[in-house]
Amino acid sequence: MQKKGKLNILVTAGPTREYIDPLRYITNLSTGVMGYEIAKAALCRRHTVTLISGPTNIVPPRNLRVINVTTAQQMKQAVDSVFKNCHCLVMAAAVSDFRPKIIHKHKIKQKRSLTMTLEKTPDILAGLSSKKGRRIFVGFSLETENLIENAGEKLKNKNLDLIVANEYTRKNNPFGKNKTSLYLIDKAAKKEWFRNITKRKFASIILDKIEKMWYIYSLPIK
Ligand code: C5P
Repeated sequence: MQKKGKLNILVTAGPTREYIDPLRYITNLSTGVMGYEIAKAALCRRHTVTLISGPTNIVPPRNLRVINVTTAQQMKQAVDSVFKNCHCLVMAAAVSDFRPKIIHKHKIKQKRSLTMTLEKTPDILAGLSSKKGRRIFVGFSLETENLIENAGEKLKNKNLDLIVANEYTRKNNPFGKNKTSLYLIDKAAKKEWFRNITKRKFASIILDKIEKMWYIYSLPIK
């Protein structure tokens, strides 16, 4: 039975890898730190946590339930398998938006040039938006321009309660760092700016928000 105030929280973290051939892949700079910090903070508060992780170098705590995945498609399958029983989904993973249309069976040989067609990966969060029910959805947005507008649009399109908006600039490169500067935006378009905050402290702030939201609209999952 669910203990009062204790939630089933599903967190994703890290990048995905989309293979081109058996030895090469497309990925991004995500190291997974933020997602792992959120999962660890939730665990410390005695929530039931499942972390679905793309490839990272982080060693998770032994008492954390981790499902390791590589590709966006695998991450989708893992999220779908846990989603039904979760009260809150925190999609901190930097899911690759594209993957090669064809995965070569053998190593591609050297040649003068190579043209590759990429296709869209499934958008995990967007795909779940119609099944949200009373669950809390938290998304992440990393932008190199128009930070607030782009993040606000994702919040709406993906039916999120909160979005964490990170800007990637020469001054603020959040990848692999313990500290970052970012906005937290809610459904009412209220935005809070956090300057040079540790990801650990920020994870705790996100959890405060999740717990408060759950307390406010706490009803059984549909
Ligand atoms: O559109 P964009 O990729 O910037 O959206 C970011 C948010 O959507 C993140 O929370 C990310 O985990 C999620 N996402 C997803 N499936 C994808 C791409 C992104 O769930 N294929």
